[in-house]
Amino acid sequence: MMLAGELGSLKFWDMQKMSQYLLALFRLFYPRNCAQCGWDLYQHEDGLCMRCLHALPHSVAMLNHPQMRKVFFGRCSWEEQWIFLKMEKSGPVRDALHSLKYRHCPHVGSALGKWWALKIEQQYGRPNWDVMITVPLTNEKKRKRGYNQCDCIAEPMSERWNIPLEKELLIKRKGNKSQTLKSRIMRNSSGENPFEVLDPQRWEGKHILLLDDVVTTGATLEQCYQALSQIRNVRLSMAALAIPVHNRLVI
Ligand SMILES: [Zn+2]
Repeated sequence: MMLAGELGSLKFWDMQKMSQYLLALFRLFYPRNCAQCGWDLYQHEDGLCMRCLHALPHSVAMLNHPQMRKVFFGRCSWEEQWIFLKMEKSGPVRDALHSLKYRHCPHVGSALGKWWALKIEQQYGRPNWDVMITVPLTNEKKRKRGYNQCDCIAEPMSERWNIPLEKELLIKRKGNKSQTLKSRIMRNSSGENPFEVLDPQRWEGKHILLLDDVVTTGATLEQCYQALSQIRNVRLSMAALAIPVHNRLVI
């Protein structure tokens, strides 16, 4: 009996060793590297290594960050206004977001989302949002990129807190031209709002968290806010992963 037990544990040990070798061999051909520094990632790391995550210049987690109050003053009455990272004109935050959006690195988004969730929870505990949504892309843009980068950030937060991430609550219809070239006043006065809430009755009285990757003028989030405000008794909060440090209000 004892011999059989020893053999059993030896086999288990061998199999463990073997699977480690096989994994190491697999990683030779399919390496997992940090999108920022290029170093090999530990098994528990994803997208960015811990060293690069720790080096990101983040702001203090605040329910109502003063920088956000300034951006949305007189425009939107968010219940909570979260931001996380300060983005310089060049540097790690801009690089990480560039990898996420243009170099097909969705894991960078999930690494940032996990990190952000941890910071919020350390400061305030679990949020009391009923549902999470992200700024939607048009179907065409999502197809082109392969994913909505904001979903990558929001998914680990939604999983951690068991708060549903609804991808069909708010949708974006295909617009005519890129909105980025128009000023905020032009966009608002044109009366076009590409965002639309599907089934608004379903979300009456809910607390909705809207998440975006970068906030600059706040014009996109304002349009989302206007669309979402049509839901009766809704409570709206926003969260933006990054804000440019040299952000100026453009009107
Ligand atoms: Zn790194």
